[in-house]
Amino acid sequence: MNVPLLDLKSQNLALEAELNSAFTRVLRSGQYILGPEVMKLEGEIARLVEVKHAIGVSSGTDAILLALMALGVGPGDEVICPTFTFFATAGCIARVGAKPVFVDSCPVCFNLDVADLERKITPRTKTIIPVHLFGQAAEMDAVMAAAQRHGVTVIEDAAQALGAGYRGRKVGSIGHFGAFSFFPSKNLGGFGDGGMLVTNDEALAEKARLLRTHGSKPKYYHKYVGGNFRMDPLQAALLGVKLPHYHEYTQKRKANASYYTDNLSKIPGVGMASAAQSKCPPANAQHAPSECSEAALAEPEAKLILPGAYAWNDPIWNQYTLRISGEGRRDALKSFLAERGIGTEIYYPVPMHLQECFSRLGSGGEFLPCAARLAKECLSIPIFPELSRIQIDAVIGTLQQFRLQAPAHA
Ligand SMILES: *Cc1c(COP(=O)(O)O)cnc(C)c1O
Repeated sequence: MNVPLLDLKSQNLALEAELNSAFTRVLRSGQYILGPEVMKLEGEIARLVEVKHAIGVSSGTDAILLALMALGVGPGDEVICPTFTFFATAGCIARVGAKPVFVDSCPVCFNLDVADLERKITPRTKTIIPVHLFGQAAEMDAVMAAAQRHGVTVIEDAAQALGAGYRGRKVGSIGHFGAFSFFPSKNLGGFGDGGMLVTNDEALAEKARLLRTHGSKPKYYHKYVGGNFRMDPLQAALLGVKLPHYHEYTQKRKANASYYTDNLSKIPGVGMASAAQSKCPPANAQHAPSECSEAALAEPEAKLILPGAYAWNDPIWNQYTLRISGEGRRDALKSFLAERGIGTEIYYPVPMHLQECFSRLGSGGEFLPCAARLAKECLSIPIFPELSRIQIDAVIGTLQQFRLQAPAHA
């Protein structure tokens, strides 16, 4: 059976008539830069993520870049981010001339390891960028506490986590800025590139708005050197058609995740990421997290480990990411699934601290064992809302076949 990793067309074609009329509305409006369509979406996203200000931008990457520019991050500054993330998080740091400093990951939630974060803070640290990877919040209480203690700012990279919750709050609303993406494969997928920068700080919102249009106010009088980071009104209008359905998309992703977890956990040799391996603090943030070691990660029983979510998190399941231990086993599983028509992806095969471009800039190269291991073990399977029960059962059945075929030593 054919089960793609993602099927954007089915979600969008279901709204074809409304999307066409949104296009026609923009076409006839004659306004093709910013304006009421963008302002409307900004208001709706601000409400969804429970913040005062939202600024529509050209991509998730540009949202992060704009936040760094608005916070005045530049040469001589260090910015801390997880090494196990999409490139944009780290790339933006380098683009403003600052030095990315990489932090290891928690093998349970895949997010930054807060103990390693503490170790990486120096007098040069200006900002921390936690990433809410795969739709689950990073340990924000610990991040904010560290930031306050050292007087540094926080930008949440929430590109994969629109609407996700952390201890009753929405991600993106906790740090100084939150950055969202509407890249087609994100949970609210647009029709091209788009993003949103959010903040509760009036002055930062004002500065980011100026920087979005070359830092000018009034027109042709430039207070700052900004750029062109504007969201198109056409993009805003089309996203506005999808937004009323967003809650339903998320509920379906959550249902798919529970169904996977319920059924896959019954297969012998399949385990859950255990809290004992966690480097994140539990509900009382005082706890000193355990060190990540190869020994702590090794789980002799389970060879296929399901993703877990902490009780205080409300993840939106941008990805459902398995870990497959054993040399070469992840790649073997990927091929096994591909041969049977099941699409998967490796998010991400190379952590940032091992990327050529950063070693040339004098960043990275250190020993970050958990992230290095995640990069070898992770495999994301289809989780999109429109998956049919038959398709999910096919994925589960194929994973079971792989387990049965697994050699005894692997
Ligand atoms: C997608 C993504 C981005 C960048 O968003 P774009 O809209 O593609 O520029 C940044 N960070 C993370 C973690 C992402 O997944």
